Amino acid sequence: MPYKIVAEECTNCAACETECPNDAILEKKGTFVILADKCTECVGHYDDAQCVEVCPIPDCVVIDERLPRYAA
Ligand code: SF4
Ligand code: SF4
Repeated sequence: MPYKIVAEECTNCAACETECPNDAILEKKGTFVILADKCTECVGHYDDAQCVEVCPIPDCVVIDERLPRYAA
């Protein structure tokens, strides 16, 4: 569930979009977003969140504290 893209930090480089194993990242009106109901924190696919790993901007993809952590 809980990763989100901080819109003010995102440069819309699209690097993260194709790395998500759940197709949870997409472009909406020129801004990249993570669909909370599709994000599983990469559990079962990778040891680390791939969107965080590939994003070139520090603190651009972060845990969304408003949502509960994903439980497999
Ligand atoms: S943490 Fe993994 S599943 Fe969630 S949006 Fe990022 S790449 Fe996709
Ligand atoms: S990799 Fe980072 S900067 Fe690039 S689109 Fe994704 S969130 Fe935005």
